[in-house]
Parts: sequence; structure tokens; C-alpha cells
Amino acid sequence: MLGLMQERPLLISGLLEHAARYHANTEIVSKTCEGDLRRDSYRTLAERSRKLANALIRMGVGHGDRVATLAWNTHRHLELYFAVAGIGAVLHTVNPRLFPEQLNYIINHAGAKVLMYDITFSTLVSELRPGLEHVENYVAMTDGGHMDGMPDGSLCYEDMIAPEQSAFEWPVFDENTASGLCYTSGTTGNPKGVLYSHRSTLLHAMMLCQVDGLALSNHDSTLLCVPLFHVNAWGVPHGSPLCGAKLVLPGPHLDGKSLYDLAKAEGCTFSLGVPTVWMGFMDYIEGSGLDARSELKMERVIVGGSAAPKSLMRRLESIGAVPRQAWGMSETGPVATVANPLFKHNELSDDGRFDLRCMAGRPVFGVELRLMDDEGRELAADGVTPGELQVRGPWVTSGYFGGEGKGPDADGWFSTGDIATMSEDGFVRITDRAKDVIKSGGEWISSIDLEDAAMRHPKVAEAAVVGVPHPKWQERPLLVVVPKGEAPDRAELRQFLMGFVAKWWLPDDVVFVESLPHTATGKLQKMELRKQYAQYVLPELAETSGRAAE
Ligand code: AMP
Repeated sequence: MLGLMQERPLLISGLLEHAARYHANTEIVSKTCEGDLRRDSYRTLAERSRKLANALIRMGVGHGDRVATLAWNTHRHLELYFAVAGIGAVLHTVNPRLFPEQLNYIINHAGAKVLMYDITFSTLVSELRPGLEHVENYVAMTDGGHMDGMPDGSLCYEDMIAPEQSAFEWPVFDENTASGLCYTSGTTGNPKGVLYSHRSTLLHAMMLCQVDGLALSNHDSTLLCVPLFHVNAWGVPHGSPLCGAKLVLPGPHLDGKSLYDLAKAEGCTFSLGVPTVWMGFMDYIEGSGLDARSELKMERVIVGGSAAPKSLMRRLESIGAVPRQAWGMSETGPVATVANPLFKHNELSDDGRFDLRCMAGRPVFGVELRLMDDEGRELAADGVTPGELQVRGPWVTSGYFGGEGKGPDADGWFSTGDIATMSEDGFVRITDRAKDVIKSGGEWISSIDLEDAAMRHPKVAEAAVVGVPHPKWQERPLLVVVPKGEAPDRAELRQFLMGFVAKWWLPDDVVFVESLPHTATGKLQKMELRKQYAQYVLPELAETSGRAAE
């Protein structure tokens, strides 16, 4: 027997109209690419999105068509989030930090018909254009006064929407319709497209507003440091209209000073970003001797996208905020776990609770996790046994766009490629990417734990650990360090690490470098480092073989 309840589809346009109606005057503040600070509200966001929807339809954008963006976090990009998905087309956000060849590949693979771009990317667009196969319309996301220097034939966003009506009847369609397309960073092989649906996006948005999710609410003023071009900015553009949170968009300005000034001026209570952004933010605060605790109202900070060093989490605590990790990936919506402590953890010491907040967290409702060994057997969730993390749920991919890559198995389990431990009540600790794990004498050494320990040393700015060949142990860890000023003494650094990790985990050697390679999303490029040190001869071996270490 079926229930007798209404079947209203979960559509992104519903989020916008809800906010326009019930949170009409809540602000959306954007730092624009033209340089000014713009103030919108959910009412004006909805009005402008409806005008844009009319303009897109006039342009010939239809159901299922892909509209690509190369753009920062601004009001116009947000309007595209709602207008494109709202008419049943697919918003294809592209990471402008990728190489031009990758960008051409991605935009062609997605079959994008329209390319919307910020004026900061005009040169990039001219470079990409000869290689773009399907794009019919180029739109510069600016006003008529800033069209000089834009690639020939580009339309102007403001001129395009100005004559349109602000009335628009959003179409109603199946909630499983595609709404967004985002390509994974592609550290191996070609980037792969993850295709989000209206349903997955709305369920994910509801989760963000749960207390046991990100507790996003109407009381928040959110500084959105996660780019709108990276996995739907972790769902915040959709969660915010759902609950009526104020949104603060930093545009292209993600340096510490710009973020600090904006957070202060807009009374931001909540923020999210990758560790690199938070490092810049804290460097600025500490370097300028600011009293952030009294100047900012920051209550909660989510750090995700890659492993957050504990030292960084402590620094964030010093501004009066509660920092927490969250874990996920493009394929998981992205938020799958959040480090929210349980009631029973109230009994823990401050240090104990802090440790929990530094874990990747536990699954939010809807997300199921399990750990698997190399032979495909499920491992115990005992908090110590590491295995590959698998995930399934209503906002987890069911397969990549175009059918490429390896999707989930027949039961829906998607292999994340992350190595983790999991406690009985689901607290996950990510220890490595499967391909980065160091296997020494058959035992696993967690490069993330070692890096975390090294980054606690006062003379270490950044650290990476990679496995290098060893005749007896197969692999041993090599620590690559970017020093903070003067390089620390190698022996003293090893001694320091002994306070945090087992003796057999200690790196066999330490090398100092000026910088480490990062991906376009700020993750350490371990593959590049491993390639660089593939032939590295440890000093102990160099002595016996007579070869000098590099
Ligand atoms: P992406 O699809 O580009 O968002 O990358 C997803 C990957 O980022 C995950 O598979 C993890 O390897 C890494 N990642 C994300 N969040 C965390 C976290 N809190 N701790 C450690 N690694 C993370």
C-alpha cells in the first residue's frame, strides 16, 4: 500500500523561491571582479535569477544543455547556480586553476554550449576558444562598462538580462534531472565528470542545515571561501537559501587580509575552506598582531578538502572559533562525514574533544561507510584497522558522466581510494590516499599522521611524506619539508617526531625544499613528489652502495 502524501519534486528552484518569500531581506554580499562590494538579498537574487532564466531560454539553452562557468564566488555566479538548474539545464562549473589543455578537455567532454566567464579570465578564454568544440555563446559576466578587452563576439551578462522580465514560472520536472556537472581533479588519467541531480542537491542541502550536519542556520553569516567551481562550494549555495543564512562571497580575493576584512565587516559566524586558505588567514592574523578573538564573530570553521594539520586547527581555535574537519569528495556531494562530537564525548577532556574534531568525522544521516581490505573483505570498525573507505548514499555518484572510470559496485558501494580507520560509532580517520600509503615491511605507515606531526615543529611551514625504495623494507618514509625561515636540524626534527609516532615510522631521511607541488584544488601532489623521489637513495644505503644521495 502506498502512502497518501503529495509527491512534490525536490527542485533547486524551490530553494530560491522559498528564500525569496521567507528570507527576502537576508543579505548576500559579494566582492566583485570589478572591485566593488555589492549587496543583494534573496529577493534580488531571485529577481535576477528569473531574468537570467528568461535570457538563457531566449539564447536557446534547453533542458539538459550544459552551461559552463569560469568564475569566482560572486553574485552573478550564484545567479547562474539557480537560473541554469532552474530551467532544467546543467551548470558545469569549471576550475580555472587547471591547465588550459585540461580545461579544453573538460569543457569539450561536457559538451558545453555556453561559456560564462569572469572578466579576470578573458585572456584564458581567448586561449581556450580555438579548442572549444561545442561552445556557441561566450558571455562575459560583467556590465557594459567593463567589456573592453573581452574576447570578440562575447555577450555582456548585464546587457543580456537587463531587458528581461523578472517574472518567470520555474518548470516542474523529475527531481532526478541533472543539475550540475563538476569534474574531479584527475590526479590520475583524465578528469571525470560527476553529475549531480536536483534530488541529491536538495537532500545534501537539508543535511547541511542539520545540527549534526554543518548546523547551517538563519543565525549564520557565512564567509564562503570554498570556490563555487569546486563541488558546488560544498553545497553552501543551496543550504543557505534553505535556512536563510546570510552569504558573504569573497570574489577572487582569497588572501588572508581580504578574508579577514570581509569577515570582520560582515560579522561572519561561519566559514568553510581548504587548509591552504586557513593557513593564509592565520598567517595574516598572527603576522599583523590582530585581536581576532574580539574583532571577529567567527563561531565555527569547517576545514576539509585535504587533511588538516592539528597545528592549524589549534591556530583556528585561537580566534575563538570551533574548528572541525569534514570529509568528502566530488563523488560524494561532497559532504559525507563531519567531526561533530557525540553527547558521550562531553566527558572527554578538552584535548580529547579537540582530537575528535581533527578526525574526518562520522557519517551524516544518509551516508553509509565501510572499510575493505585488498581482497574485498569488510574490515572491523575498531578504530585501529586501516582499510579502503567505501561509501554509498543518496548524494553519492552512481557513475561518471559519459560512463568513464569506475563507478560503484552493484550494491552501490563506491571505492573512495582513501585509506582510513573507523571507530565503532563511525568516527573516521583518513590516513592516506590508497596510492600514497607507505608499505614498510608489510605494515602501513600513515603519511598524513607523519606530516601532521612534522607540521607541529615550529620551524616547519609545510611537510610531505613519500615512500622511497628500500631493499629490506620495500619502502621507507622520506620527509620533504618547506622550512619556516632557517631549516631545522635533521636529527632534532626526528627526535621531535618521536613524541608523536611509533619509532619504526620515523622518516629515514629529511630533505628541505622551497615549495611543494599542489593540485589546482590545493591538495599536495603526492604523485609528482613520488616521481621526483622515485630514485632517491637513502643515506644509509648510499654508504653501502657507494652512490651519493641526491
Ligand atoms: P575532491 O574530489 O577533489 O574533492 O577530492 C576528494 C579527496 O580529498 C578525498 O578522497 C580525500 O583524499 C581528500 N579529502 C577531503 N577531505 C579530507 C579530509 N578532511 N581529510 C583528509 N583528506 C580529505
